[in-house]
This record gives sequence, C-alpha cells and structure tokens, in this order.
Amino acid sequence: MKIYLNGEFVEKEDAKISVYDHGLLYGDGIFEGIRAYDGVVFKLKEHIDRLYDSAKSITLEIPLTKEEMEKVVVDTLKINNLKDAYIRLVITRGVGDLGLDPKKCSKPTIFCIAEPMNPLLGEDGIKVITSSVRRLPVDVLNPAVKSLNYLNSILAKIQANYAGVNEAFLLDREGYVAEGTGDNIFVVKNGIIKTPPLSSSVLRGITRDTVIELAKEMGYKVVEERLTLHELYVADELFITGTAAELVPVVEIDGRTINNGKIGETTKKLSEEFKKIRKTMGTKVYE
Ligand code: PMP
Repeated sequence: MKIYLNGEFVEKEDAKISVYDHGLLYGDGIFEGIRAYDGVVFKLKEHIDRLYDSAKSITLEIPLTKEEMEKVVVDTLKINNLKDAYIRLVITRGVGDLGLDPKKCSKPTIFCIAEPMNPLLGEDGIKVITSSVRRLPVDVLNPAVKSLNYLNSILAKIQANYAGVNEAFLLDREGYVAEGTGDNIFVVKNGIIKTPPLSSSVLRGITRDTVIELAKEMGYKVVEERLTLHELYVADELFITGTAAELVPVVEIDGRTINNGKIGETTKKLSEEFKKIRKTMGTKVYE
C-alpha cells in the first residue's frame, strides 16, 4: 500500500513523520475522512472545501490549491488500484520545536491514506448512551473545525465502551443534543425529520447535508432546531450519519428502546436512497 506524504508516494512502512510534528505534539492540524464508492469519491469537492475552511479558521496555510489537493486524493486511490475505499487526508502545522508556537512550524505536513473499505455491517441498529462529557462549545474550539484533536470525542467514546454500547452522544454546553463522537444525530417524530442546528456544537457533516437534501427531495419536512434528550427518548426513529457509518439506526438510548427495537420505515427509506445516489455524487477516479 502506498501513502502520499509531502509530495511523494511512499510504502506504508516508510510513511513516517517527525516526533516534533505539531500535529502529534499538540493535535495542531486538521483532517478529512472521505469515502470512494465504485471509483467515485463521494462529494470530494465538499470535503476539500470543508478542509480549507478548517485550515483558514486555524490560520494554517495549505501550500496546495484545492485542485491539487483533489488530485492528491484521486492519485492515492489510483496508485493503490482502489475503487471502494476509506480515505484519510491529514494536514498538520508541520515540524516545529517543543514549544506550542505555530510560528516555529515552517511547512505543513500533508499525507493521504486510502484503505480498502467493504460495506459496513451492523445495520441492525446500535445502542447509545449520553456522555457526561459535553461537546466543545463553539467559543472554545468550534466543532465546525475538523481538528486533529479528538480527545473530546474519545473521552465520550470511552464512556460508551464502559457502558457496553456502541456509541455516545454529547450534549452542548446548554444541555441540548449536539452530536455523536464521529457522527451527526437525526430524529423522526410524526413524520418530521429533525437534527440539531450548526449552532449546537456540531460538525457540518457531509452526510448530514446529503441526508437533509435527500429527505427534502423525498417530500419530508426537515427541521434544524435545538433538540433535548427528551425528544430523542420519545422519538419514533433515531439515526446517526457519518462518512464511515453512513446512516445507522439507533434502537436504544440511555436504556429507552426506540421503535420497539426495530428499524423505522423512514430510516430504511433514507438509507436505501443514500445507497442509490452515493455513486452518483462525486469525482470519478478512473475514466
Ligand atoms: N461529527 C463528528 C464529530 C465527526 O467526526 C464526523 C465525521 N467526520 C461527523 C460528525 C460526520 O461528518 P461526515 O458526514 O462529513 O463524515
């Protein structure tokens, strides 16, 4: 397997970065997780736009144009002959000294990994808990920035592990529902689909955007509004979205069963529709 690292393709064993890299020392960097389905990179342009927005927000100057960055992703798939893959694109502040000052980092580190990805199992529905760890407030480290520092999510995930469930949901500072450790949250109640707004400490998920768009096209009413845990507990259906997870039903939250533990009709329909369109929305790798 070949990995793109700072302008070159190197073997996995040789893909090494410095212990002085601030991505490692301080989580000072940003990333994207991207999927390719049958030779089409799903919404590559949208991922690259989000990456450059994250970079701008933390004043990290990426020394490549967006077109060049798209080519990095496409070339990484090509060189590894991959059609269905999970892609990780990472930009760190680069190598500096032991101080945290980013001024000491002269050149960002850029790497791209693409691994084969087979369709995910576990579509029977997952169990979740609400974590006591609050999602980062927008005025502390805005979750809109897809930063390398995932400790906030990891601490919540540890609670899910201890509770013996698959995932943890985090609330925002005000106590409203924010998001999962690596996914956005949707509820369905009386035929209306609801998801927390971007002001509720959430990442603007590419899958979230896609599902909102799809649902509207299918005739559903979709509302972005602050949600309380109560609304999740009494939901007709509950599901999460994300690049890796796609669309996964939640059948239990904090011990409350959703929809008698069965996958709801709306979730099923949206999931089927997502599977149909995912190959049609993106950038072709092979001509
Ligand atoms: N929230 C968080 C915290 C995430 O890490 C992710 C995964 N990138 C998402 C939401 C879902 O975003 P996307 O649909 O773009 O993968």
